[in-house]
Amino acid sequence: MIELTRWETLTPRARTRLIRKLRPPRATVDPERPYAFHHEQERAPDGRLEHVNVVFLTNRECPWTCTMCDLWRHTTTTPVTADQLLRQLDYALEHLPEAEAIKLYNSGSFFDRLAIPPDAYRGIAERLRGYRRIIVESHPALIGPRTLQFQELLEGQLEVALGVECIHPGVLNALNKRLTVADLEQAVAWLHAHHLLIRAFILLKPPFLPAAEALAWTCHTVRWAVTHEIQTIVLIPTRTGNGIMERLEQVGRFTSPTPAEIEAAAAFLFAQPASVRLLDTWDLTRFYTCPDCARRQQARFARMNQTQTWEAPVHCPSCSQL
Ligand code: SF4
Ligand SMILES: [Zn+2]
Repeated sequence: MIELTRWETLTPRARTRLIRKLRPPRATVDPERPYAFHHEQERAPDGRLEHVNVVFLTNRECPWTCTMCDLWRHTTTTPVTADQLLRQLDYALEHLPEAEAIKLYNSGSFFDRLAIPPDAYRGIAERLRGYRRIIVESHPALIGPRTLQFQELLEGQLEVALGVECIHPGVLNALNKRLTVADLEQAVAWLHAHHLLIRAFILLKPPFLPAAEALAWTCHTVRWAVTHEIQTIVLIPTRTGNGIMERLEQVGRFTSPTPAEIEAAAAFLFAQPASVRLLDTWDLTRFYTCPDCARRQQARFARMNQTQTWEAPVHCPSCSQL
């Protein structure tokens, strides 16, 4: 497919069309129910190990259509009402234990008014009384007055998660995020100026670069986040599964992170002086061919995330992968 070899030269509209064309089917979701929720423990920026509830709200698909994104799979094609969102949150909270923090993720931007109607903010804030930290995600372009409006309604401290992805200008453009490094810097400065906490999601081995460069740019992006005093830095190994990423892999424009590359990026991250350093362990096992390695590494990184302490690589008795 010729478009894949000259991806950078395509317009965002042409990329979006192709990304959507190559998608596997959407999952069936119910606008009355969150599509998932769970409870976990995670280190907070002030050093406490907190109980955290995580709720994945079902709502309209994010309008950006980024190249590596697979979050659209659990979204609707039409907006969800404020009442439906509040019923989703009620349902999740009835089934979750008490916790100090909550992540309200919506497969897009919390401050996208067509995804989370501002009419729902007050009802959401009422339901979140007692939580000391509330984490939502947002595209930097949507951070602004609605962010402050929501923070003012909350009893706890708002933390905004930004998909920083990769600060290589060509890669950031090719990711179809319609975002520049200057936009990211502006969003970060604005969040700091308003005393909001920040979380950065960074791609561990982005597409469109040779392997060694992709790893180097992962590290540059981590350094950028540290320099910009982002409190929580999360490395997310880039994965296939949304249609376009498989095709990019087929034409040599992406290779999945290897266990050694995950190891190198994690070592770099854990050597940084950020308050919270996390390697996303969700679906981590897919990057290991040996099931024993997969299980041991997932458990090790989960422990490291909680303790914030580097552990030596595991030696697997079943293979010599690490
Ligand atoms: S902005 Fe985030 S949720 Fe929206 S398409 Fe891009 S990666 Fe996915
Ligand atoms: Zn093994």
